[in-house]
Amino acid sequence: MVEKYLLLTPGPLTTSETVKQAMDFDYCTWDDDYKKITQSFRQSLLDVAQVNADEYTAVPIQGSGTYGVESVISSTISANDKLMIAINGAYGKRISEMADIYGINHVDLVVDEREPITLELVTEYLDKYPDITHFAMIHCETTTGVLNPIEDIIPLVNARGIVTIVDAMSSFGGVPINVKDNKIDYLISSSNKCIQGVPGFSFVIARKNVLEATKGTARTLSLDLYDQYAEMEQNNGKWRFTSPTHVVHAFYEALQELAQEGGVVARHQRYVNNQKHLAGGMEELGFKVLIDEKYQSPIITSFIYPSDDFDFHEFYQELKSDGFVIYPGKISQVPTFRIGNIGEVYDEDITKLLVAIKEIINR
Ligand SMILES: *Cc1c(COP(=O)(O)O)cnc(C)c1O
Repeated sequence: MVEKYLLLTPGPLTTSETVKQAMDFDYCTWDDDYKKITQSFRQSLLDVAQVNADEYTAVPIQGSGTYGVESVISSTISANDKLMIAINGAYGKRISEMADIYGINHVDLVVDEREPITLELVTEYLDKYPDITHFAMIHCETTTGVLNPIEDIIPLVNARGIVTIVDAMSSFGGVPINVKDNKIDYLISSSNKCIQGVPGFSFVIARKNVLEATKGTARTLSLDLYDQYAEMEQNNGKWRFTSPTHVVHAFYEALQELAQEGGVVARHQRYVNNQKHLAGGMEELGFKVLIDEKYQSPIITSFIYPSDDFDFHEFYQELKSDGFVIYPGKISQVPTFRIGNIGEVYDEDITKLLVAIKEIINR
């Protein structure tokens, strides 16, 4: 048995006891009661997205978050389309890799990982490539913790008649997003991030008329978003293939707990408080935050190594033995490590973490 610890990573993250208990039964994947659970959480996701079921649908896809993104990229963009990807981190790059694999025509706007994507840069690109039909970007770039300003960018991109795709994997449920007002056609997230469930599936909030026009576009069978949608609609919430039944029940419980907490607004406030406490406390201990406060998300924070001889591995191991698991950095320009503050993580946990870090660095 491994020692227990608090996950300070951006998903999978620490879940509540009751979310874990919801998995303590072997549920049937096609039974009517189970289909009701699926239909119910699909509706709850639309509520979180602040949209209604006449215009939008929520479609779960088995697999981790990447599978949901790949489902959108591989099954909704045709050979005649052209995709623009705005990239300022590993998750934007991942979409570009997908486009390469499927032979999708694409142009990449690549921005320094420490900076946000801006409307100016996006507009410049769109003017340069007037044949762009689809646009994809990341909301919270978990690579660094930058929160990209989708609300400035997406409505104006969509106003040009371009289909908009937002990977809101690490922000949906933890940062308020009005999907309709922001003119998002496809938003992707997963079970194990700010909704605070366990890993096992992703989901797409899709504008119905846009999704319905993609029938027959898929390049794979299992990631066919339209087909999964059609099956769920025709068959009252039936997944096409075996679904992660335990994960779905945990997710259903997690959505109820999100509502009990006071919804996304209250959860966002808790995350903001956690992040500010964390960043402020770390700065007092001599660690510098990588990202400008203006673009810093309330999800995950990158800290620059305090000295050239800083041994992250040793720091990680010591923190782990104190009951905290953190995350290595992921960028090339500066050596960093990351600490997430989402999940069942409260102010007192941040206090304890800072005490543990202080002890380690003063040893
Ligand atoms: C977590 C995450 C993903 C998906 O990662 P998986 O490991 O496949 O779950 C995609 N995009 C962003 C921004 C993420 O934070």
